[in-house]
Amino acid sequence: MRRHKLALCQTHYLEWFPAQVERTIRKYHLLRPGERVLVAVSGGKDSLSLWDVLLRLGYQADGMTIDLGIDGGFGYSTRSRQKIERFLEERPGATLHVVDVAALYGETVPQVARRTLRGRNKPCALCGLIKRHEMNRIAAAYGYDVLATGHNLDDEAATLLSNVLQWHTGYLARQAPLLEEREGLARKVKPLCLTYEREAAAYALMRGIDYIYEECPYAEGSTTIFYKELLNRLEVNSPGAKLQFYLSFLRARSEGLFQEMAAQVELNSCPVCGQPTNVPTGPCAFCRLWTP
Ligand code: SF4
Repeated sequence: MRRHKLALCQTHYLEWFPAQVERTIRKYHLLRPGERVLVAVSGGKDSLSLWDVLLRLGYQADGMTIDLGIDGGFGYSTRSRQKIERFLEERPGATLHVVDVAALYGETVPQVARRTLRGRNKPCALCGLIKRHEMNRIAAAYGYDVLATGHNLDDEAATLLSNVLQWHTGYLARQAPLLEEREGLARKVKPLCLTYEREAAAYALMRGIDYIYEECPYAEGSTTIFYKELLNRLEVNSPGAKLQFYLSFLRARSEGLFQEMAAQVELNSCPVCGQPTNVPTGPCAFCRLWTP
C-alpha cells in the first residue's frame, strides 16, 4: 500500500484492514456500542467486506439488499443476490432483508425507467430514488439505529471531484462520512470512506468472500467511472493524492466552509408512504412513480 508505505502478509492484512475501519468509525463517531446497524449490500466487494468487518468487530450488523431486476444479459441482479445469500450461509447468525422491487411494486427498475423516462436517460437517478426510499423504509420498519453503506474512498473522491467541477455547493455541504438522523430519515454512515477500493477488494479476496465482479450494466460509460480513472492517474504519480483530496475537503467542511450552504430543506410527510419528502404538497417522488 503505497500511501501507507506498507506491505503486509495475508495474516497481518486481515488484522490491519478492520483496524483501519474501526479507526474511521471512531474518528467520525459513526457507530456507538450496542447500536443495531443495517448494512446495505449490493453483492459487490465493498458492501460485503464492510458487513464482514462489522461482524468481526463485534457490531450487531444485519444486511439488506434490493433486487432491482436488472439483467444486462448476464443476470446482474440475480447473480448479485446469489452472492449475498452465499455470504449469509457462511455467517448463520446474521439476518438479511431482501426487497424485491418487482414483487413489491409490480415492475423492475428498467421497466419503471422505460415507462417514466421513455428511453431518454439511464435509470440511475430513478434507481437511486428507489434505493434511498427502501433503505429508509426497512431501517424504520425494523428499528435499526443506523444505516451503513459501502462507499469507499474512490467513490467519495469521484463524487467530490464531480461536485467541485460543477460547484454543487448544496451537495458539497451534505457530503460527509456521517449524515445525522432527521425527521424519519435514518442516520447514514460510510465506514469505508477512507479505504481505497483496491484495499477492500484485497480484503474480500483474502477473506474468501465471493462477490460479483461485474458492474451494473448501466454503470458503463458513467461520469463517475471517468472521474475515478482521472483520480487513478493522479494517484499513480502522487500516491495518497486521493486521500489528501478527500481529507482536505472534510477538514475545510468541519471548519465551516460549507455551513451556509447546508441550509436544511424543509421536509413534509408524504401522504401515501409517510416518509419525509421535500415535495411541498402531495405524494413524494417515489410514490408518484407508481401512480398512474
Ligand atoms: Fe442503479 Fe445506475 Fe447503480 Fe445500476 S449503475 S445500480 S442502475 S444507480
